[in-house]
Formats: sequence, C-alpha cells, structure tokens
Amino acid sequence: MIIFATVFDLMAMAGIYVHIPFCASRCSYCDFFSTLRVSDVGRQYVDAVVAEALMRRDELADEQVKTLYLGGGTPSQLPLSLLADLMKGLRAVFDLDGVEELTIEANPDDVVPDWCHVLSELGINRVSMGVQSFEDDILRFISRRHTSRQVIDAVAALRTAGIDNISIDLIFGLPGQTVASWTDTVRRAIALEPRHISAYGLTFEPGTRLWHQRERGEVTEVPEEQCLEMYSILIRLLLESGYEHYEISNFSLPGYQSRHNSSYWNDTPYLGLGAAAHSYDGRLRRYNPADLDQYIGAVKAGKPAFQTEELTLCERYDERVMLSLRTASGVDAEKLQTDFGEEAWRHFITVSRGFIDRGLMLVDAQGRYVLTQEGIMLSDSVIRDLMWDE
Ligand code: SF4
Repeated sequence: MIIFATVFDLMAMAGIYVHIPFCASRCSYCDFFSTLRVSDVGRQYVDAVVAEALMRRDELADEQVKTLYLGGGTPSQLPLSLLADLMKGLRAVFDLDGVEELTIEANPDDVVPDWCHVLSELGINRVSMGVQSFEDDILRFISRRHTSRQVIDAVAALRTAGIDNISIDLIFGLPGQTVASWTDTVRRAIALEPRHISAYGLTFEPGTRLWHQRERGEVTEVPEEQCLEMYSILIRLLLESGYEHYEISNFSLPGYQSRHNSSYWNDTPYLGLGAAAHSYDGRLRRYNPADLDQYIGAVKAGKPAFQTEELTLCERYDERVMLSLRTASGVDAEKLQTDFGEEAWRHFITVSRGFIDRGLMLVDAQGRYVLTQEGIMLSDSVIRDLMWDE
C-alpha cells in the first residue's frame, strides 16, 4: 500500500533562507550553529545580513522570490526592532511582493501576543514552532525552555493575531519517551490543529550534551524497533486526521505543504544569507562560515563570506534521487536520464527493479518511482543502495 498520497505541484521559484544564529540557551541534543550573543552582536548581525543580501542580489536576478524563511537558532529571540529592520532591509534589496510564504521559526515561550501582532504587521504569515514533545519532564530533561502549556497559549496567540498557518516540530525517540507517551504527544499536537507537522527521529550528534550523557551511560537510547513503531503511529494518526504525508518527515493539511522546504527537495535555487547558511543554484553550492565573527568580518570588508563547491554529476544525481525519493512525488526517471545520462539512469532502473520486486517501491500512474509504506520504513537503506558511484 502506498501512503504517499499527494503529489505536490509547485511552480518553479526561488527561495531565500536567512539564518538567525541566536538562542537563549542550548538544548542538549542540538548541534545547529547558534550562539547566546544576541544582545552583544544582534545589531551588527542584522546589518551584515542586509549587506550580504545587497552584495548577492544578482544571484537571484532572474528569479521570482516566492518564499522567505527565517530559520535558526531561534529567530524569535531577535528583538522586534531588529526583526523589523531585517525585514525592511531585505525588502529594500529584493522584490518580496510576490512572496507567498514568509516563515519564521519560533520557540513557544517567545510566542506572546505582542510578538504575534508585530509578525502580522511585518507580513510574516507562517510560524514554525519547535515543540518537540508535550511531556514537560522530557522537555526539561533536554533543556527546552518551554512547557506544554506554553505551546497551547502560543497557538492561541498566533490565531488571535490572524496567523493560522502554524507548523509544529516534534521529535520521537527522546530519552524517557515510551510508545504510549509519544502517542499522547502526537494526539495533543493534532488537537491543536496545526496546518503542518514535522517529526524527526532523535539522533545523538557527536559533541552534544546528550551525546556525552549517552557516552557516560546516563541516558539510554530508545531501541530502534520502538522508534519505528513511534514513526508508524505518527503516520497512522496523522493520516486518520486528514494530514497528507508529502515528505518522509513532513505532513500537512491539504494546501499547506511547506513551499520553502519543498524548494530544497525540488532542485529549486535558493539563496542562504547569514552565518552557516547554504545556497544552491542548481550547480553550485555556497557555504557561509559557521562562525559569527568571521561572517560579520567578511561582510564588513565587502567580501563574500562563502566558499563554493561545484557538485559533480554523480553528486547531483545522488542528491536528486535522495531528496526526490523522500517526497510523495518520487523520482522522475525520464528526467534522470535527460539530466544525468544513460549510465546513471540504467543504475537507477536496475536497482529500483529489485526494490519494486520486494514491495519497497512502485511506479505510480505518472510513471514516477515512489516508496511504498514498507519502503518508507526502510528508506535509509533503499536510498543508500540507489546512490551512484561512478
Ligand atoms: S532552540 Fe533550536 S537551535 Fe537553539 S539550541 Fe535549541 S534546538 Fe538548537
């Protein structure tokens, strides 16, 4: 049975991502680039991002910007005056009138009525909240700042301010979580009727506090079979509640797929601004340094902060297959042949045939190769085998 029920239909577009690398405190599992220095360098940082936008505006010269995403870190930690200046600066550089989705990531405890009101005034129409769990003892254990009550209040505050396009992030496989408690978290998330839910399995990233706790034997990993059960429960409950499973980790009510994230999966160009941000133009990847002072210093000196990497044909094939196969749209094998040649196409078709025989993949009515429900549960190994070593 196929559970990827929807095919998304997204026109060609470009997106802008802005990294806001500030957090009020560090969560124990997180290895994203962020610092606690907003009061110290927040102003300089916003000025640097706007200056970088000006320097790099030509990279999107031929594109219509359709999405803008303020990610982090914790963008809701940016003082409102700086957020307003950032938006004003970006609007002065880019034509943002055609932007259909303008998202900001937020921590639930920052989402208070005044903040929500200003978002509306700034034209921000989507909020993605890092909720992670509705169990307060787990939230405390992983050093999240918020409580489950604050999530409920945050959703209400956003709706009162007219922002209904709300996304919630959850994590399964957290220490101390059980299948029953995860089920309760998913049910409580659904009860809030967010338009979008993303859910990720916990990974123990080397160097994080949680990773050290596991190394010292202070936390035990949730067994893999239990994580798979949690993922299955998530899928079942969300499908039963009318959500579409449009990407392995992403679910939405009809019409509310994340347009910005879809651009990553659709090979659409995007410009990443700010420290640690990446950009992609279909051929070149650009990486800004994950270092605040280095980033601000380079931009102040009028130099590009990024390093460039040109992806090989093989790497671009791998990326296309990996990202497409994670989505409900799957892989367009004909286009694979056009874009990467006979050899890559033959490799894909040959390996896929084995997965089709095992019921892990199928070819849909549009001739696209998609994962079945069984395939989704084994997606890592399916995708690994489809990679192309020239
Ligand atoms: S708030 Fe987000 S970015 Fe900041 S430490 Fe926690 S998980 Fe990482």
